[in-house]
Amino acid sequence: MEFMISAIIFFILLYTVIPYFLSRSLGVNVVKRGRDLSKIAFTFDDGPNPVYTPILLDLLKKNEVKATFFVVGTKAEKYPELIQRMHNEGHLIGIHNYVHHSNWFMSPWKVRNGVKNTAKVIKSITGVTPIYYRPPWGMLNLFDFMRRGKYKI
Ligand SMILES: [Zn+2]
Repeated sequence: MEFMISAIIFFILLYTVIPYFLSRSLGVNVVKRGRDLSKIAFTFDDGPNPVYTPILLDLLKKNEVKATFFVVGTKAEKYPELIQRMHNEGHLIGIHNYVHHSNWFMSPWKVRNGVKNTAKVIKSITGVTPIYYRPPWGMLNLFDFMRRGKYKI
């Protein structure tokens, strides 16, 4: 019984905390920062939002700034005109899961299908396949960490 509990705890840690620590703290298998320390990158998560995204896009346009938007698939489906606007105005669009759930509490195949669906939604609107993926809260699970596929995290 004690062995079973230890084994379960080990697998939970292996699936969640260990990949999180390696990617967040040590930057293993993820793009954490660029080489040029004199530049910064603006990234915005969780949209598109019908109220705030247009205001943000106006502000970026006014200041001639390009950004990366990590969008949620269900919201991209709901507000395709905002995804189209991001694309038309020269911003990069990345994936932030199909629904805003932590990868720690989803199976590997549910995460993979969600990422694939979101990529499909973005491509159907913009014609461009996204190459960047940012999981909600940076919480990678073991399978995301080991098998990044075609996306840069
Ligand atoms: Zn988020």
